[in-house]
Amino acid sequence: MAELQLRDIRKSFGAFEVIKGVSMDIKPGEFMVFVGPSGCGKSTLLRLIAGLEEITSGTLAFDGQIVNHLVPSKRGIAMVFQSYALYPHMTVFENMSFGMQLAGKDKQQCRKRVEAAAEMLQLTPYLQRLPRQLSGGQRQRVAIGRAIVRDPKVFLFDEPLSNLDAALRVATRIEIAKLHRSMHNTTMIYVTHDQVEAMTLADRICVLRDGVVEQIGTPLELYEKPNSVFVAGFIGSPKMNFLSGPFADTYDAKTIGIRAEHLEIDGEGGQWTGTVIHSEMLGSDSYIYLDIGAGEPVIVRESGTSRHQPGQTVRISPAAGHIHRFDAAGRATGR
Ligand code: ATP
Repeated sequence: MAELQLRDIRKSFGAFEVIKGVSMDIKPGEFMVFVGPSGCGKSTLLRLIAGLEEITSGTLAFDGQIVNHLVPSKRGIAMVFQSYALYPHMTVFENMSFGMQLAGKDKQQCRKRVEAAAEMLQLTPYLQRLPRQLSGGQRQRVAIGRAIVRDPKVFLFDEPLSNLDAALRVATRIEIAKLHRSMHNTTMIYVTHDQVEAMTLADRICVLRDGVVEQIGTPLELYEKPNSVFVAGFIGSPKMNFLSGPFADTYDAKTIGIRAEHLEIDGEGGQWTGTVIHSEMLGSDSYIYLDIGAGEPVIVRESGTSRHQPGQTVRISPAAGHIHRFDAAGRATGR
């Protein structure tokens, strides 16, 4: 079980500062997810925690002990990469036991641990196969298995599902959630681009922007109480609708944000008039794109199949209590 403390961590590559003073506490056994746009520094922050990159300044502590200068192998971490990084000439069993053998672990004990991990990840039938004889999803499970057998205090994942197709991504995501439940003492830190992975796996999500922490909170906190336009626009799909000018003036804000599910078409007291531009049927829901004269189209989510046709004029109204207000700096000022 490990608690991590990051204090004013900075990282520069030459003159280019990539991580600009990140502080946070990650609790023992917590599943923390780092999200943010491409290039914001998610992978770099993970690599600093792993010890694969050197921290320029600030302190990183595991259970109160500063580990800035500790080599990766001494940190009690295991890392799973997007690229699997399996040895092609070794069987699944050998790939999973190699690290333990290097560490001088007893053969019998190695076998037991590999078999237990293989069982947990449904890899038992494949232990004698080579990586090229496996599907992408199975290879990623081997990479996860190899990390499990090391019994790490901290599990680090760098976009582990991004090479998998949609169905396998979902299945493996569920495996990772189960793994976290069954290894409830293991702290996990997970980097992803994927909204759904972040929302479904995380105990807490950390949104990074340009090397700085924008907000840390539970998935619901970030969804319901984003502290900035940036976080509000980043968390949730479809993206939150943002309105400014006269639309926001009424609410005494520079910008207001309303999620698609908090707008109602043809409800009582319709506030704005719009024209249907397009509708998307997703089966369980429909997304209606409306031009209400706000520049960007506004998206409304309706449950079931929409009756609204392109060209139709409708009135829409926001649900009370669900209008996010933001000031000129993009900071939330309340709802
Ligand atoms: P992505 O989602 O695209 O993987 P990221 O948020 O994980 O992005 P990082 O990979 O951490 O971003 O990179 C952050 C910035 O640091 C980028 O501008 C990248 O070009 C730069 N960077 C990363 N590693 C190095 C390096 N070894 N040398 C120089 N610059 C680097």
